[in-house]
Amino acid sequence: MNDKQPIYILPENVQRTIGKDAQRNNIMAAKIVAETIKTTLGPKGMDKMLVDNIGDIIVTNDGVTILKEMDIEHPAAKMMVEIAKTQEEEIGDGTTTAVMIAGKLLENAEFLLDKKVHPTVITKGYRIAAQKAKEILNEISVEISSENEQALEQIAITAMTGKSAEGLKERFSKLIVRAVKQISDNGKIDLNEIKIEKIKGNGLQETELISGIVLDKERVNQDMPKKLTNARIALLDFALEIKNPEIDTKVSISSPEQLQEFINQEEKFLKDIVEKIKLSGANAVFCQKGIDDLAQYYLAKAGIYACRRVAKSDIEKLAKATGGKIIGNLNELTPEQLGMAETVEEIKNNKESMTYVTGCRNPKALTIIIRGGTSHVTEEIERAIKDGLGDITAALKDGKIVAGGGAVEIELARRLREFSQTLPGREQLAVEQFALALESIPTSLAENAGLDPINIITELKSRHDHGEKNTGLNLLTNKIEDNILSGVTEPLRTKTQAIDSASEVSMMILRIDDVIASSGGKEGMSAGAGGAMPPGMTGY
Ligand code: ADP
Ligand code: MG
Repeated sequence: MNDKQPIYILPENVQRTIGKDAQRNNIMAAKIVAETIKTTLGPKGMDKMLVDNIGDIIVTNDGVTILKEMDIEHPAAKMMVEIAKTQEEEIGDGTTTAVMIAGKLLENAEFLLDKKVHPTVITKGYRIAAQKAKEILNEISVEISSENEQALEQIAITAMTGKSAEGLKERFSKLIVRAVKQISDNGKIDLNEIKIEKIKGNGLQETELISGIVLDKERVNQDMPKKLTNARIALLDFALEIKNPEIDTKVSISSPEQLQEFINQEEKFLKDIVEKIKLSGANAVFCQKGIDDLAQYYLAKAGIYACRRVAKSDIEKLAKATGGKIIGNLNELTPEQLGMAETVEEIKNNKESMTYVTGCRNPKALTIIIRGGTSHVTEEIERAIKDGLGDITAALKDGKIVAGGGAVEIELARRLREFSQTLPGREQLAVEQFALALESIPTSLAENAGLDPINIITELKSRHDHGEKNTGLNLLTNKIEDNILSGVTEPLRTKTQAIDSASEVSMMILRIDDVIASSGGKEGMSAGAGGAMPPGMTGY
């Protein structure tokens, strides 16, 4: 046998990048992702306009939204997007921060790699640093009581700043705090219980909190009552129609009498259904599927208020709010299965009519109705409000906050550096780089506000050295001050979560020294050995 014969273990269309190239290429991708959203950080951050392939536009300042909308293909870059998604799921706020820290951790790791520090030493150092950082965060956090409405409102304001809610942040923050407190059940908070509806038209200032469920649906038939009091509500998971669209039925008819007979039967079928609904005592019907014209007519005649094609999630919220059961089969419908509410009413807002179910059996049912001039505005406000809701939830769960505006990052960096001195070996260098990475947050906050980052960081550091642990940049006043006192505060959990996911991903990316990618026609990987990114990455 000829031993010069090449041996192929991978199929031809597989791209392989090994060792340093793989590492550098991944780091580069991660850095670019972080760089992309850097300018949106903080109250003075800029927005991005994202246009998809059918021309729909999103204008946003929200890190996770930007990254989700960008069609990112590079595998390491995708991992960065995952950090934002995790942060979004766990907290809601802090997505830009998490991705930026990860980007900086990798950039700084590259610096160490250049100095011939081995990746495993860097990851070890990062792991130690992340652990220590969380301990320090706990130590420097400040307790707040759930009774302290003002402090909570400040957290919501900090969460929303920079997201076009500026003029109305006091109003929105009150609304957010009230909403979260209302659904909180002995510290258990499920934000899915808060329904958010957006209405185009009217001013943002008319955004409101409704005790009850508001549905973006009108009654199906104008002859139905417009308002009910003492509503008894049937929640139906089946169509009030004859034809089941999922089963195509053929009927052969050979005489006009047969046709008439068939129609009569259909009518009778629907009439019976409505009769059964009426018999159960229901005067309102929310149906997840369709309602036939004829069924509508009979329902209206029976004085029943009905909505059709109500979203599953809304039916579920209604079930929780009114205490009703979702019925999958008409034979299950008994008076005990009905939900209760004081009123069910159709209310016209501008051009759209909506159904308000208020005075629910469960007083915790809530809807936030966001009103604004255009859908771009209402959508960005929704993101801002969701960040606020997430932060208030986090703050109430832990009862702990930290000073924002870079204060907490500077203090963490300072203490991590001190701690690094106690470490033997080269991990010390990694911990130092970790500290440096955290400082990128105040640096970017200052840069984005058009301030000189070097001056700001120098002053912040020196004041922290003198024991002012909560001193940060307040961009409402452009002053350096105690941000716990000035109310620029964030829940502890946004920071611990950001550090957790940022350090995990950066360590994971650092450990990769071999990328084997089958090229299923996608080009993301082909930047391969050269280390350059495909132009698409920066083209947004
Ligand atoms: P993220 O997606 O990470 O939440 P943001 O754009 O919301 O990004 O910016 C959050 C950062 O802005 C936090 O570091 C927070 O402390 C800071 N910040 C918020 N309000 C102010 C303020 N008034 N002054 C200074 N910094 C602020
Ligand atoms: Mg934020």
